[in-house]
Amino acid sequence: MTLPPKIKVFLWRLCHGAIASSLNIHRRGVQCDVYCVNCCDKVESVSHLFLSCPLAKECWFASPLGFFPMLENQESFLDWLWDRLARDSEETLCWIAMVCWTIWQRRNALVFDQKTIPLEDSLSQAARLLKDLKEVNNSSTETTTPSLVLWQPPSGSTIKINSDAAKISDNEWSVGVVARDGMGDLIFIAASKIQAPNDPSLAEALAIRWTMGIAYHNNLMDVAFETDCLVVVNSFHNGSKDASSFDNVVQDCEYLSKTFNSFTLTHVKRDGNNVAHHVAKALHSAETEFWFSNFPSSVLNLVHNDALIPKGAESRDYGEKKGSMK
Ligand SMILES: [Zn+2]
Repeated sequence: MTLPPKIKVFLWRLCHGAIASSLNIHRRGVQCDVYCVNCCDKVESVSHLFLSCPLAKECWFASPLGFFPMLENQESFLDWLWDRLARDSEETLCWIAMVCWTIWQRRNALVFDQKTIPLEDSLSQAARLLKDLKEVNNSSTETTTPSLVLWQPPSGSTIKINSDAAKISDNEWSVGVVARDGMGDLIFIAASKIQAPNDPSLAEALAIRWTMGIAYHNNLMDVAFETDCLVVVNSFHNGSKDASSFDNVVQDCEYLSKTFNSFTLTHVKRDGNNVAHHVAKALHSAETEFWFSNFPSSVLNLVHNDALIPKGAESRDYGEKKGSMK
């Protein structure tokens, strides 16, 4: 939960009945007035303080929550709190914590300083605390977002091969393959058509199997395959054991992977796979085609972008791919 540390600690203590209400102190053998300092009407138990005291109700109502705890099947305020912790959204829980904190702060000001803090002041301070914390969290998320969306060159003499499948019709898919070295230079590109039912994951798996065959026949033995289809990557690494068409293709890939000296299959986000996507979308024809030189200028431009754009740069989008599930 996104809460200031002192309020997290307070919430933990509250949930574990470790709040020094007058009744709790009295139970530990300390002689003190056990009546609620707010209303002077009831014994100050935790349930009274946070639930049934008129000042507590006022605080719950005036907060953005706009309700106060109603016990349903719960025996006490703490049971209610545990229930809410289990099922409420983070935003609601943050406010539940802030309201409890506010009730507790106002009570302490009265007990120890004989001071009445206006409810409005307490709640706007709580709102400010939450807002500030949210802003700090948002800005730290923005600066630490990893650049996984971007294509990264392979290390050493490994060849990185990106593949992608794009839907042409209900039973037909185009496949794009792009092989590059550690300098980001093209080794080859390939485009083809495959027959596959309307199943994006199966089409992607078929594209990878086809790509592995090409790599093998071109004697590329240290390879890093990359796809933007997470389903294929997860199935490959977790072992696919069913007899479905998809699992059969993934099992073929597992078998083929052992023929390479070094082999990896990893997932890259769509923007990191955009050259293969472009090849699949733009260059497929009736026949399978290979380019080992004289690469199309549209491909060269995209490859150039991949090599130039530094880590953490703005993510790019080259249009939505229809009929594919990523
Ligand atoms: Zn009271």
